[in-house]
Amino acid sequence: MGVDLERNHLARYPFLQESQTFARDSTDSIETFLESEIGKIVLPHAVARAKAALFSDPRDQDKDESEPPFKVSIFSYVIARILVSCTKDRMMADRLARYEAARAAAALQREDPAIRAHVAQSLGIDLDARTIPVTTYVELVARLRDDHWRLVNREVREGMVAVGTSEMAELLRERIRVVVGQNLPLDVPASLCDTLKPYTDELAAALREKTLEEFGEVDETSFPPCIAALITAVTAGTNLTHMGRFALTAFLHNIGLSTEQIAEVFQRAPDFDLSMTMYQVEHISGRSGTEYTPPSCATMRTYGICVHKNALCELVSHPLSYYRRKKQQQENQKKK
Ligand code: SF4
Repeated sequence: MGVDLERNHLARYPFLQESQTFARDSTDSIETFLESEIGKIVLPHAVARAKAALFSDPRDQDKDESEPPFKVSIFSYVIARILVSCTKDRMMADRLARYEAARAAAALQREDPAIRAHVAQSLGIDLDARTIPVTTYVELVARLRDDHWRLVNREVREGMVAVGTSEMAELLRERIRVVVGQNLPLDVPASLCDTLKPYTDELAAALREKTLEEFGEVDETSFPPCIAALITAVTAGTNLTHMGRFALTAFLHNIGLSTEQIAEVFQRAPDFDLSMTMYQVEHISGRSGTEYTPPSCATMRTYGICVHKNALCELVSHPLSYYRRKKQQQENQKKK
């Protein structure tokens, strides 16, 4: 079924091919665009968009009646991706992708069914289908952590996985997240990042603020036993497995330690090699586009690095949740 997208659709779903083609055809280069009148209007919108990915609920953003003109909307998406890429922080990129996906998913719920179907089909999803080929399904749920997405928990018949209507909408949101996050961080020329530095510095400061808001000051006494054990192992000079090193680095990165501070943790190891450690830490914390999120407790168990479990462990499914809860407990105790 042919559907003609209007300009407001392009603005609402800027990750679509049609929207990207419009953006490409509208300017010679990003540098020229940023110097133009419209470019100067777009830049603050792009910064606001990237910051909104950190601080606001995308469903509320989408309800905002005062949507900017469609060209500003499309280009703020393009420039926000560039800004986030210049921060070279995978966490920032991931939050932008999640924000854009949630925002688009909220808009799609209120969308005309033909447009909704068109957007979904453009991303390879048939919203009316009740089954999906196993290979497609596995690809779609690759980053979804809830147990009910695991193939072993699904009804599979003749190579097809049964999927409910609301699950299909969730899979569409996940697909949008993957499309928006594709190639992020982008390989942006250094000269362009230099031009945008005041804005990327603003974003980096906003990310630090957000991390502080979420986790507060770093408190080593609240670390989960698995992470404490990994630090003990590093200090004792034990070579960590790849997963152990990844889990420790990603955990520390997520609670707000800088690359240098993480390197200091590894510095406790007798065979410490600064350049190698900095390379690995930067690699894991996102400069290469590697996934930054620490593994869940289930994954930690699979790799044999869930150790010294205690009572609080029974109440959480992620080391970061443990840390958050433990900190809260300690703060409550101090208040008493
Ligand atoms: S249950 Fe989770 S938080 Fe507790 S030790 Fe295992 S992996 Fe760490």
